[in-house]
Amino acid sequence: MNYRHAFHAGNFADCMKHALLVWLLRALARKPAGFRVLDTHAGIGRYDLGSSEAQRTGEWRQGIGRLQGVTEGPLADYVALAGGGETYPGSPALAAGLLREQDRLALVELHEEDHATLRALFRRDGRVAVHRRDAWEALRALTPFPEKRGLVLMDPPFEQPGEYERLTDAIAEVSRRARGLVQAAWYPIKGRAPVRAFHTALAEGGVKDIVAAELHLRDPIDAARLNGCGLVVVNPPFGFEEAARTILAELADMLSTGEAGGGWALTRIADE
Ligand code: SAM
Repeated sequence: MNYRHAFHAGNFADCMKHALLVWLLRALARKPAGFRVLDTHAGIGRYDLGSSEAQRTGEWRQGIGRLQGVTEGPLADYVALAGGGETYPGSPALAAGLLREQDRLALVELHEEDHATLRALFRRDGRVAVHRRDAWEALRALTPFPEKRGLVLMDPPFEQPGEYERLTDAIAEVSRRARGLVQAAWYPIKGRAPVRAFHTALAEGGVKDIVAAELHLRDPIDAARLNGCGLVVVNPPFGFEEAARTILAELADMLSTGEAGGGWALTRIADE
């Protein structure tokens, strides 16, 4: 396990994933009944943008760094929650910030040190449980939810071959175990072919109601680079597609590198 999110926190990929995550969590909170969030690859929860890791890559400067000061429009809610300061919230801190008394958050992180950091961050919040276990095993152990509603976020580091296939299988497994849950799965766009194959496998896998939201920095010609990223959403709440279009368009505009092929896409992969 070499991947450490501290090098990448607040980059364009985090902005896309987290802006859409905030919208999805707000949608779940429209109903008074409690919901649960399962974050299967949680990371350390909150990141110091002044750390040597963050300073070394400087990736956040082309991500959240460019959004600071946004107070209106489709990104305003996310940017306000992300804060304009010295730290950047990971998915656990963002989700915890949106929980109500009746909601619960289960965090899974396999890396020993990162798990310890994460556990320490939430030790005083009784609504949050932190687990050190394998994400794919945790999906089976921790679903279905007692609340019967909520969201599963899968955000693997894609440092090993087979991650697209594991995501496809995990989405099918969660659908079988807990059909109504919202699922959000992040994926990198390096080359075109693996993404096409991933979408096809999802479309043919039998899970209904899937959309893919994508942010493109440039044409994916050089597959050694992170040229864009996507979030597959299963069972998107009412209004997601319209909201995602405005969020993605704003992100594409504000985070543009000016290179050919920059932009965004929202694709329906499986019908309701
Ligand atoms: N979701 C986080 C966020 O948005 O702030 C970032 C997560 S980061 C991309 C991926 C994390 O998954 C890393 O912290 C890594 O240690 C962890 N990880 C990698 N393989 C795992 C596995 N099999 N089970 C659980 N966690 C894993």
